[in-house]
Amino acid sequence: MILILEPNSSPESTDYKILTGQLDRLSGISYRIHREVGAEVTLTEIYLIGNTAALSIEQMQVLPCVEKVVRVSEAYRVLGRHKQGDDRPSSFQYNGVRFGQDTLNIFAGLCAVDSPESTDAMMRALKEHNLTCTRMGAYKPRTNPYAFQGFGAKCLPYVFELAGKYGIRVIAMEVTHESHVDEVRAALKTTGSPTGVMLQIGTRNTQNFELLKHVGRQQDFPVLIKRGFGITLDESLNAAEYLASEGNRKVVFCLRGMKTNMGDPHRNFVDFSHVPVVKRLTRMPVCIDPSHSVGSRSSAPDGILDLFHVAAQGVVAGANMLLIDFHPNPTKALVDGPQALLLSELPHFLADVAIAREAYIKRAALVAAHTAH
Ligand code: PEP
Ligand code: MN
Repeated sequence: MILILEPNSSPESTDYKILTGQLDRLSGISYRIHREVGAEVTLTEIYLIGNTAALSIEQMQVLPCVEKVVRVSEAYRVLGRHKQGDDRPSSFQYNGVRFGQDTLNIFAGLCAVDSPESTDAMMRALKEHNLTCTRMGAYKPRTNPYAFQGFGAKCLPYVFELAGKYGIRVIAMEVTHESHVDEVRAALKTTGSPTGVMLQIGTRNTQNFELLKHVGRQQDFPVLIKRGFGITLDESLNAAEYLASEGNRKVVFCLRGMKTNMGDPHRNFVDFSHVPVVKRLTRMPVCIDPSHSVGSRSSAPDGILDLFHVAAQGVVAGANMLLIDFHPNPTKALVDGPQALLLSELPHFLADVAIAREAYIKRAALVAAHTAH
């Protein structure tokens, strides 16, 4: 059961103390408090855990500071959509960019940062197309221990400075160890915070619970968590819930394909039909990663690259974020060159995505018109 408190309820107030005093006296019930300090309002939610079936909504509703009571009906307590009266937000703001189940943010960028020159060329192209988000891999989880592992902390200062130069607000960047979060924070500080970072949990770490807890405990950065490549959707959504249960609910969930030979010749089996499923089960914005799903630049007889086709499929189904590999010179890329799009393809890609987004908006309007009468 979730108690949603009146906005700006202060833990110092008498009413708040009466409320927690009453909760302390409930037998077989413990609780966890989530406070979301915003620029204008502070929102507080109290999660009651234990034998909540014995409590009635009416009984909890009359407690001081309580604005609303929601009975939890799904496993994902914080991020889930609960059946009764759950109108909690499905969006958040970070560094001036809004992420929601109704927006579409495009994160085109380098799979791996390999030089200041390619980073500069990439970001300059983004600015030319008014894009303010990107992806930049500094810590790369590689199958082969002898493969390039990413430049790590060494590249962060120039990545952040160039991001500032080109007006980039948010960089999706994978972290594979908790120390990487500190390195990102330190590099942002020394460069004067010219940009923002969305910490990415890669598919290989979806169930690295200690990493999830660490990233969930900090609230400086939002998190992009990728679906595990060989586990169920429920297991991956529980992994996302780990982040929120530790306090960070600025979480975006990313579909990136499932590892199975059934998806051949694609690198992974594209799972973008799950976009609406994740939006129904949770309040998270949903990202799709066509690059790591498809893994090649193959195209259909219509001349359209598979990468474009699957991106469009996800966007038509209501995806909220696109993570996509580009490189100024893919043959020289140190990671995933074969799946990278060329900078010259960026305007074509954006125009294609815009068609799919328009189709989604029309489809949503169509269903609204049909359910209105
Ligand atoms: C990536 O986005 O760079 C990446 C490694 O993706 P995934 O974790 O989906 O394999
Ligand atoms: Mn990659």
